[in-house]
Amino acid sequence: MTTRLRWGSATDVGRVRSQNQDAYLEADPIFAVADGMGGAAGGDVAARVAIQALRAAAEPSEEGLIEGVRRANQAVMARADDDPSLRGMGTTLSAIALVPGDDGDADGDRVVVANVGDSRVYLLRDDDLLQITRDHSLVGDLVEEGRLTREQARHHPQKNIVTRVVGHEAGLEVDTWEVIPFTGDRFLLCSDGLFDELEDERIAAVLRSVDDPERAAGELVDLANDAGGHDNTTVVIVDVVDDGGRSAHASAALPADGDQVTGAARAGTAATAGAVRAGAAAPEGPAESDRPSGPGDGDRRSSDAGARPVRSRITWRVVAFLTAVALVLGGAAATVVWYARAGWFVGVDGGDVAIFQGRPGGVLWFDPSLERRTGLGIDDLPPARRAAVREGKEQPSLAAAERYVDNLRDQAEQERRATTTTTTTTTAPPPPPPPGSP
Ligand code: MG
Repeated sequence: MTTRLRWGSATDVGRVRSQNQDAYLEADPIFAVADGMGGAAGGDVAARVAIQALRAAAEPSEEGLIEGVRRANQAVMARADDDPSLRGMGTTLSAIALVPGDDGDADGDRVVVANVGDSRVYLLRDDDLLQITRDHSLVGDLVEEGRLTREQARHHPQKNIVTRVVGHEAGLEVDTWEVIPFTGDRFLLCSDGLFDELEDERIAAVLRSVDDPERAAGELVDLANDAGGHDNTTVVIVDVVDDGGRSAHASAALPADGDQVTGAARAGTAATAGAVRAGAAAPEGPAESDRPSGPGDGDRRSSDAGARPVRSRITWRVVAFLTAVALVLGGAAATVVWYARAGWFVGVDGGDVAIFQGRPGGVLWFDPSLERRTGLGIDDLPPARRAAVREGKEQPSLAAAERYVDNLRDQAEQERRATTTTTTTTTAPPPPPPPGSP
């Protein structure tokens, strides 16, 4: 493995809490942040136990990192079983590991990211700050569903409800991602004390401007405290200072119109979100912290918004493909709209026979629209006609619908006359004989 890292960290209790229930791990090539929860002492214990178990069990591979999180889960559960006062404790756990390529060639090196809970891993690359992990929280789900903005989520009264936790159940699912690391990449692992206080743009500005990872971590924690410090804040920053020439190899391998390849190689962020099941148990030990090493890579730029993983450059092929897809989808949508809106039918509106444009019952989200009421009551129609009209009698055109209504009106009139005639015939007294008749 020729990829080299440097790192730095900071943690603080904040301005409101009396105890720091966050914990973190710096054990090159594995790094992690845990944010404990559950009672006066429980959160503190859960976070520490999870970090210790991860350090003891995790190996620098995707399976190894997942196994480390599983062991952390078992360790926290075992500890809670041993001590009834700790029942219900749990912790988030966000971790990364630099994983060597199979042949020792730096081109095969990967950074694997694993996550449970609502602490986060971000990647600062070129001009983008990307949120790699997905929050396992109530508001995180609402943001994904488009029902809350990220800004609304930061201030939501239920932002602390976590939907997946280390230490609560044996069958723990662990999300993982894989990132191809490039020189200049900066990974940020943090607890919610950071991003609940600071907008992503503010975080990015610090990551962009403060080169030393230890100092950048300290500055972020200070800013979170200045913004209120409502929670414990923990930050671990891991920089890729040397990718073993992977960037150069990727560039050299480009074809003439190689933007697309560049995008794939450079974007490398991840797209492999995996879900795994859990098991096993693990030991404990003190919180860990090996100090930084390695030279700086200088010259870091960045920007704003946290986003989902994966960013790539847009090429004319991508544009052409997306345009074709848009045309096909647009054509299909237009056909549906045309079909839904093209028809006419005679139906019922509030007890009156009425003419509608559209299809009886509607098509997808297109409801029929009322063209006009006819002034003819459904109960005025001959009984044999009522069911068809109630269901909606389709017609090829507005004129045809009008003619159909005219026919109905005639039939209703004939029905009315027949009824009147019958009534007259049966109830009227016989006419008097004409004068002069025998
Ligand atoms: Mg927290």
